[in-house]
Amino acid sequence: MSESDTQNESAPGAVPWVEDRVRCGCCGAQMQLDAIRSPDRFFSRDDVYTLDACPDCGTVVLWAPGWDAETAYPSDYPAHAADPAVKWYHRALPRYFFPAVPKGSPDPIVEIGTGTGQFLAYLQGLGRSVSGFEMDEAAVERARAAGIAVQPGTWEDFQSEDESVGVLVMNQVIEHLLQPPAGVFAKTLRALKPGGAWVIRTPNAGAWGRHHFAGYWHPLEVPRHTVIYSLRGITQLAERAGFSVASARCCGRWYDFGQSARYRIDAGAARPWDYLLDLRKVGSPFSRVLAVAANARGRGDSMEVILSKPDR
Ligand SMILES: [Zn+2]
Repeated sequence: MSESDTQNESAPGAVPWVEDRVRCGCCGAQMQLDAIRSPDRFFSRDDVYTLDACPDCGTVVLWAPGWDAETAYPSDYPAHAADPAVKWYHRALPRYFFPAVPKGSPDPIVEIGTGTGQFLAYLQGLGRSVSGFEMDEAAVERARAAGIAVQPGTWEDFQSEDESVGVLVMNQVIEHLLQPPAGVFAKTLRALKPGGAWVIRTPNAGAWGRHHFAGYWHPLEVPRHTVIYSLRGITQLAERAGFSVASARCCGRWYDFGQSARYRIDAGAARPWDYLLDLRKVGSPFSRVLAVAANARGRGDSMEVILSKPDR
């Protein structure tokens, strides 16, 4: 942890993942403060949180002085119930189910936030050398039982020799981190081997859903999501940090449209089309079509970005 991080955490009212509230951590533009307000809809709590937004690159940042992990992640947070077994359909359609790991990328692969280790099990089956960190102890046990080298811990616990990691994977994880974005990017760059890759899947703050649903947008997920990047913001920060962007695409799912609509219905603020987007009993056809269209336009609710560290 750098000296500036330590100072920030000890300052009264400080928010650990915010270096400078008025300047965007991705592009440097002046932030719009209190741009969005939302309660923790997942746990149906009433406390309203404030989020700041960058008018330039779109990045959204939770502003939550006094944030603590026990409140954000209660013991009934259903982190990792998924079955770790890799099934035939995962192998048939890996690009749908899993993040892409670049062909020819160096080993080892390290995943932060492995859940029950399903993705690492898939990669291990392809002959890759894998390990990871997971904060949920039950999930760590399940991963270990499946023969995957997962240790309990978070991004903050991950320490590696410089230039020792071939591929770092964060699948729906970077938006939960408690370190300012510039620090996250610098730490990853140091850890990666030259020619190594950083594979990120995360909500897309440039999504249609973010603008349309505002405080009802499901991926806001307050107070667990701290920084929600946009494609534009993450690209600018990556290039400034010394990465090059190997690929970037949207991979949003119907679920975010359906859940955002559900939140607005539950709050008594529904628009007529919210009932169409929420049609889960018949397979959510409208949300599915909308997700495909949004992804094609680069406005999907989730994105996959692969950054590479230049070869020497
Ligand atoms: Zn910005």
